[in-house]
Amino acid sequence: MTVLPNDSVPALRASSLHRTYGVGSAAVHACRDVSLSVFPGELLVVRGRSGSGKTTLLNCLGGLDEPDSGTVFLGDRDLTILSEDERVALRQTKVGFVFQSFGLISILSAAENVEVPMRLIGLPVAERRARVDELLDLVGLADHHHQRPAELSGGQQQRVGLARALANRPRVLIADEPTGQLDSVTAGTMMDLISDLVHTQQVAAVVSTHDPLMIQRADRLVELHDGELVRDLDLSLR
Ligand code: ADP
Ligand code: MG
Repeated sequence: MTVLPNDSVPALRASSLHRTYGVGSAAVHACRDVSLSVFPGELLVVRGRSGSGKTTLLNCLGGLDEPDSGTVFLGDRDLTILSEDERVALRQTKVGFVFQSFGLISILSAAENVEVPMRLIGLPVAERRARVDELLDLVGLADHHHQRPAELSGGQQQRVGLARALANRPRVLIADEPTGQLDSVTAGTMMDLISDLVHTQQVAAVVSTHDPLMIQRADRLVELHDGELVRDLDLSLR
């Protein structure tokens, strides 16, 4: 029997996803028959204009939204047949999300924001504290534990968002226009962090963006047009 190397098994595999908002003549087909796979250590960039369906696709891939039809395998589990509770539980440990508008809790410090996903899965306090230190260090914010989001720059807030996404060591990172609200220098730092993480820790990442500099870092580029996947390019051998 041939044993396949670990990286030949996709971390995330979606088949024939459809997602429609509204009904009848008002229906918007935000995701039409999209299939794709993402492997450990692979940075997949999703490009497409505003309204092309990037957020819809990413939310379906990460289990934040349910497609009308199609399957999403996270490892060997099909997210689309799980109950809401099972899907949430799986998402909490296997998927990390980074949002364009950061999505931090304003009354919590940077450290407390990063701690939230670990609290949700009931990680003991000593382990949480150690992991927060490690994560804030990783994103270059070791000196900013106690600051609240409003006391941090956009780039710093997004780095807190990334640290939070990584808290429970997810296999899959989903980042929806993570640099959309950052200046170009700060955006570069964020892209380097994501790309290093994917390649050193074998995380599978799906990143939507308009940013040519993010596309330069992609191992694979897919393009969406009106909810349809119109291009799928392997860039890993550049
Ligand atoms: P993108 O992230 O590429 O801008 P979206 O996934 O947000 O694209 O949107 C894809 C299409 O679906 C757009 O036409 C958008 O207006 C529509 N859409 C997104 N969310 C909703 C919603 N909750 N209700 C109705 N239409 C929506
Ligand atoms: Mg969007």
